[in-house]
Amino acid sequence: MIYNKKKLRDINPKDIENKRVILRCDFNVPIDVNTGKISDTKRIDSALETIKYLINNKAKIILLSHLGRIKSIEEKNSNKKSLKIVYEYLKNKLIGVNISFENNNTSNDLVEKSNKMEPRSIMLLENTRYCDVNENGELVKDESKNNPDLGKFWASLGDIFVNDAFGTSHRSHASNVGIAKNIKNSVIGFLIEKELKKLQIAINNPKAPVVAIFGGAKIADKVDSIKFIGKFADKILIGGGMSYGFLKAQGYEIGTSLFFPESEEINKQLLEEYKDKIVLPVDFICAKDVESKPIKCKYNGFNKNVGGFDIGPKTIKMFKKIIKNAKTIIWNGPVGVFEYDKFRKGTLKITKFIASATIKNNCYSLIGGGDSAAAAQISGFDKFISHISTGGGASLDFLSDKTLPGIEVISNAE
Ligand code: ADP
Ligand code: MG
Repeated sequence: MIYNKKKLRDINPKDIENKRVILRCDFNVPIDVNTGKISDTKRIDSALETIKYLINNKAKIILLSHLGRIKSIEEKNSNKKSLKIVYEYLKNKLIGVNISFENNNTSNDLVEKSNKMEPRSIMLLENTRYCDVNENGELVKDESKNNPDLGKFWASLGDIFVNDAFGTSHRSHASNVGIAKNIKNSVIGFLIEKELKKLQIAINNPKAPVVAIFGGAKIADKVDSIKFIGKFADKILIGGGMSYGFLKAQGYEIGTSLFFPESEEINKQLLEEYKDKIVLPVDFICAKDVESKPIKCKYNGFNKNVGGFDIGPKTIKMFKKIIKNAKTIIWNGPVGVFEYDKFRKGTLKITKFIASATIKNNCYSLIGGGDSAAAAQISGFDKFISHISTGGGASLDFLSDKTLPGIEVISNAE
């Protein structure tokens, strides 16, 4: 999908001055359960360019985001998913900017408050998903199911809508689609602009050879993307939990490895359609469970009592040869249970090979998927990758040629 949407930079800065600008960001950051602190601030940092631009151009910013999912009144009252934590972080990043935090994101007096804002100030509203549960504790999903009244209310707080929440753009929520539908002037911010540009490079006439690497747990999550990218990729390397279904479909023993019987047909179909492109692992690091001692298994000599949790050394070598020559790489999904030290070697090596191809072979490398991005960060090779998307599900949908409703709804460029 190629989007030609109106951009923030297309608006004359003079038309932003003194205006109330509703800015939807994706501050859905991971919070460490032990410390209660933000463990990765990348998503907030990626939004700063747009925020600073609006501040420098004397806008009044009404800032919205979600944080996690809210399913009960207890969750809401616990404040564990309150955006207050993001508010504290932003205050330190935007010294000198007047930022306020609004606990009640649907209070009627917000309209008056927005009208009284000073230029260069920010009003951050509480987690938009607090609206998924009403005061009676009912799961009404006003935000997540895009209740039209909610979108209309938030839209009434501003004159211009800037959507910069790339990570939420595959969802049709009140705080993106709902607002855009109720405001005349809507644009995409700098982050969405950059994400689209970088993702498009990989799918719009990419330089050959194109190597796609798929991993992760479930084939069902990735099948649409494999089908779409498979059309123009030269090789499709498969690892991780999803590889075992392919091996089983070919009649091999896979022990207790991850396998989804309902996906058997999909595995067979893909093997048929892309038989010259799909490359499957030939050896594995296995164990009884993630706590047990690992052993090595081959694809044609699998021990029945164990399951595969990482790719083995022969596979690593085989994948390396293919990745080395790539001119475009699209990677989505770790090739092992990288959360455990003993099963992360394959995934970290993949990151290293991708980084090396990027530097030595002038390859364009793209990582989509939250866990793959986290793995790249652990490896330390993340800085060499051409682009690591901030949107897991959104980038996957984009790489499946699906429409992103949060972007589709924005006005077209003139
Ligand atoms: P991404 O977020 O990059 O799209 P996914 O969410 O699809 O990736 O997959 C990541 C998950 O897949 C990780 O939690 C990882 O532990 C799991 N995984 C990878 N390999 C295996 C395997 N062999 N068995 C079980 N789970 C696996
Ligand atoms: Mg994931």
